Amino acid sequence: MAMPQGVKTDPSHPIPETMKAWVLGDPGELKLTDKPVPVPKKAEVLVRIDAVAICATDLEIIYHGPPAQIEGGEPFNKNFTPGHEYMGTVVALGPGVDEYKIGERVTVEIHAGCGQCKRCRQGMYTSCHNYGKNYGDVDKGHRANGFTTDGGFCEYQVNNINTLIHVDDSMSDEEATLVVTAGTSMYGLTELGGLVAGESVVVTGPGPIGLLGVAVAKALGAQPVILTGTRDNRLEIGKKLGADHVVNIRKEDPVEAVKRINGGIGVDYVVECSAAPNAVNEACQMVNRGGKVCLAAFPGEPPTVDVAHLVRNNIYVYGIRGEGKSATHRAEAFMRQKRFDATLIHTHTFEMGDLLEAIRYAKDRVEDAIKVVVKNKHSAEGRVAAE
Ligand SMILES: [Zn+2]
Ligand SMILES: [Zn+2]
Repeated sequence: MAMPQGVKTDPSHPIPETMKAWVLGDPGELKLTDKPVPVPKKAEVLVRIDAVAICATDLEIIYHGPPAQIEGGEPFNKNFTPGHEYMGTVVALGPGVDEYKIGERVTVEIHAGCGQCKRCRQGMYTSCHNYGKNYGDVDKGHRANGFTTDGGFCEYQVNNINTLIHVDDSMSDEEATLVVTAGTSMYGLTELGGLVAGESVVVTGPGPIGLLGVAVAKALGAQPVILTGTRDNRLEIGKKLGADHVVNIRKEDPVEAVKRINGGIGVDYVVECSAAPNAVNEACQMVNRGGKVCLAAFPGEPPTVDVAHLVRNNIYVYGIRGEGKSATHRAEAFMRQKRFDATLIHTHTFEMGDLLEAIRYAKDRVEDAIKVVVKNKHSAEGRVAAE
């Protein structure tokens, strides 16, 4: 297609005028339509999407709406394309972009902050004060693809260069979609938490962020790393990813188990990924005096919390939104060095055209699905042509 002046393309990566894109209709309703291929502006590239992982947050958005926010409101019937954990190939460079090359494989962060608010200036762009202000006369340039702007359940998407992470050739497309998940755990443990080697960590809940939280904690030199959960098969995957101990909370009280394992005083960090009703209180009982609790899950109901226990014990509690301070780059480095095998949590792959079936697998955990990935056909064609 003809791109505007200043946008660089290459005949090796032809770009069509239109693409297939899934759009959200009513709650729970996705329709396959045609959309124009978007055009990269200054500091943006056009990414040909090769693979997208389905996240629990995608399911929240598709069925309930929040945390997606389109034009200041609900995301339904606004021609909005969800999907945010994608990777692909750079096929066009916006004006002035020389940081990436056409043909380069990249995976993406979700949030491109406005770059001008207090939090963006601190590198905490996932907490941008201009979140969702990217339309009409409130346009602050903020993007969170798949949340406030179009996402990855399609063939092409524009991304700010600050959201791109180079993908090493040793990494499969599926593995590359998991960089942002590992990056979220990294952000919680190091940038927000300040973890250093030798500190002790409990992860509660062996979902994708919890399992890769175990892997990242171990790679950072934490000891011991303890994982709690209800399903033995998930806990076994946790062991392969680096958990020194696992606790099945159906068989053993998790607070007592953690204290038994770690010398009676609890651990330095708890990363709460379970969203269980009493999880926050249990996390605060597992952590030692002066320790830190990172909240990474969304409970359905507001939990009751024993605040006096927090005060008496000088406990720090903090929420984590997404993957700030370029933590994804450090996560990708761990993955490139094979410090852990993130593909252990990838269980299923579907074609993009079969997205509805892929979502059913992710939502209903068919065949104990953990991470379900959808791939565009062109990614397979590209592979064949390159060989
Ligand atoms: Zn996600
Ligand atoms: Zn901002």
